[in-house]
Amino acid sequence: MIKQRTIKKTVKARGIGIHSGRIVNMSLIPAEANHGVVFRRMDVGGKLVRAHNAFVNEVVLSTGLENQGVKVSTVEHLMSALSALGIDNVIVELDSFEVPIMDGSSAPFIFLVQSAGISEQSEYKNFFVIKEEVRVENNDSWAQVSPYDGFKVSLEIDFEHKKIKDSGQELSIDFSQQSYLKEISRARTFGYMKDVEMMQRQNLSLGASMSNAIALSDDDVLNEDGMRYHNEFVKHKILDIVGDLFLLGSNMIGHYEGYKTGHLLNDQLLSAILEKPETWEIKTFEKEDSPIHFYSEDWQKTL
Ligand SMILES: [Zn+2]
Repeated sequence: MIKQRTIKKTVKARGIGIHSGRIVNMSLIPAEANHGVVFRRMDVGGKLVRAHNAFVNEVVLSTGLENQGVKVSTVEHLMSALSALGIDNVIVELDSFEVPIMDGSSAPFIFLVQSAGISEQSEYKNFFVIKEEVRVENNDSWAQVSPYDGFKVSLEIDFEHKKIKDSGQELSIDFSQQSYLKEISRARTFGYMKDVEMMQRQNLSLGASMSNAIALSDDDVLNEDGMRYHNEFVKHKILDIVGDLFLLGSNMIGHYEGYKTGHLLNDQLLSAILEKPETWEIKTFEKEDSPIHFYSEDWQKTL
């Protein structure tokens, strides 16, 4: 048996938007059962944007949503943390259009939700269960989901950069065996310093710095403190995938596999799945045990 989850109390964070460079205040607020994850833009009269694939409108540098002209950008790291902790229902208030980047990973959002505490609700938790394989391709890159009794992500990236090549470009994580919090949550976003400088001249990536990203020169990592995991690059890409998949609206039960994927391909995959209702079902676990378990405060001692 597994019930829906929200947070116990409102928690707040303040940070910079990596693309906009704007300071943004964010509050996570408990929400009732069956509410879902919904963004509320306080700077435009409290307009709502649901965290769902139907509202994705930005997939180039990050994943962004839009509802009736109201945008919320760079949602993937927060969505990843909410997915990993199994938070079904929460209101995310923002006073600007971009979720703060914090340190470029999902660990600060994990910490924020843990500080609020997690509460189980009266309704059973919905899972998005993959019943048949769905695959999308784009040139030589591809992404697919297939049935699996749990939640697993297998990814291969292919960068020419020496540090990325040496770090290992292939990884498979079965989240019932390996801890998202330990293995994935601290992995930061990354980019080439020369690309950031070029984008900043075009008013993009205005908030990017070495305090929220791994900066790469042509052959090295420029951050003084180095890397958090030896294979932090592929781990961050898996963090992004976990966040993008949560835009199905519920935690997925299935196996995601991909080669050189990004937000664009993830968006195409989710749209392809949602267009074929015979490939999935929404399932609750009322008597039997669910194949996925989520962090609870009792686990803290073991993590
Ligand atoms: Zn990312």
